Amino acid sequence: MSFSTDVRGELARVKTDDVCCARSELAAALLASGGIAWRGRGRYALTITATDAATVRRYFGMLKRHWGVTGQIRALSGDRLNGLTRYQLAIPEEASLQLLEEFQIYDEAAPFGVRQTPGDGITHYACCKKAFVRAAFLMCGEVSNPEKAYHIEVAAPTEDFARRVADCLGYFGIACAIAPRKAKFVAYIKRAEGISDMLSLLGAGAAVLALENIRVRKEVSNHVNRQMNFDSSNINRTVDAAETVIRDIQYIDRELGLEKLPPTLRDMAYARANNPETPLAGLGELVDPPIGKSGVNARLRRLADIADKLRSGEEIKLRKVSPVMTQSERNDP
Ligand SMILES: [Zn+2]
Repeated sequence: MSFSTDVRGELARVKTDDVCCARSELAAALLASGGIAWRGRGRYALTITATDAATVRRYFGMLKRHWGVTGQIRALSGDRLNGLTRYQLAIPEEASLQLLEEFQIYDEAAPFGVRQTPGDGITHYACCKKAFVRAAFLMCGEVSNPEKAYHIEVAAPTEDFARRVADCLGYFGIACAIAPRKAKFVAYIKRAEGISDMLSLLGAGAAVLALENIRVRKEVSNHVNRQMNFDSSNINRTVDAAETVIRDIQYIDRELGLEKLPPTLRDMAYARANNPETPLAGLGELVDPPIGKSGVNARLRRLADIADKLRSGEEIKLRKVSPVMTQSERNDP
């Protein structure tokens, strides 16, 4: 079962008792499924076709409950459907015109009397805006498995219809983009947060939970991966830099002798040579007295400088250091 199928299954079972929302859902369902066929002289054949039986039963129930119209449900299959079964609700022709008027789709001025989106009144209330998007999704919506990608869309038959979907979502602060694709106009969201908001708005609570679980898991593992990459690249940088310094230290030892260095430099040379993977801050704690990172940096630079001068034969002026007094010397005047 795909995530889309799960979401549709859940949405098809969302309870809506209000006639305003039933009107909005049916209007969206008829237009989104391209189920309005003109039969001449104010006659229309209305059908709602869906991939799952629950959706079709949903609209069968609404028509019956609010308008007393009994539709007919049939299963469609065949070569043209690639072996898939689809379910179709056919609305009796004698009720068609009245329903199109009720759903604010019929308009004498429109081509063949059919508007591309219903009148504004259909989505006047917030509840009806949700209902409109829910039906649009049930008819021509898809949502990717969040394990693989974040993407939800409604592939609408016209640009006007796609805009209407985007407007309804926009009312709730959910931003969605529109792009043409083949003969369709696709309203889509690619951000996990937006997808989650849209699903929860439509009433797919279980799908929201599933999505959020996956999202948290992905974010934690991304964070851990980033952290691991960051740490290992830091260690690599430290080791690279340390290797250069260690070569310098060995060179100084060979050419000059580390014991000739001022004690602070000499101790730092030993600390670095013995701890190539220790970051600068840690290195500062290995000398006595401990010093900070910038102090370590200064001493390592000084060592590199001495090595450079030795290589080029330049004269080295080792800073005049007062002879180191040992503890006993200090005590003996
Ligand atoms: Zn409503």
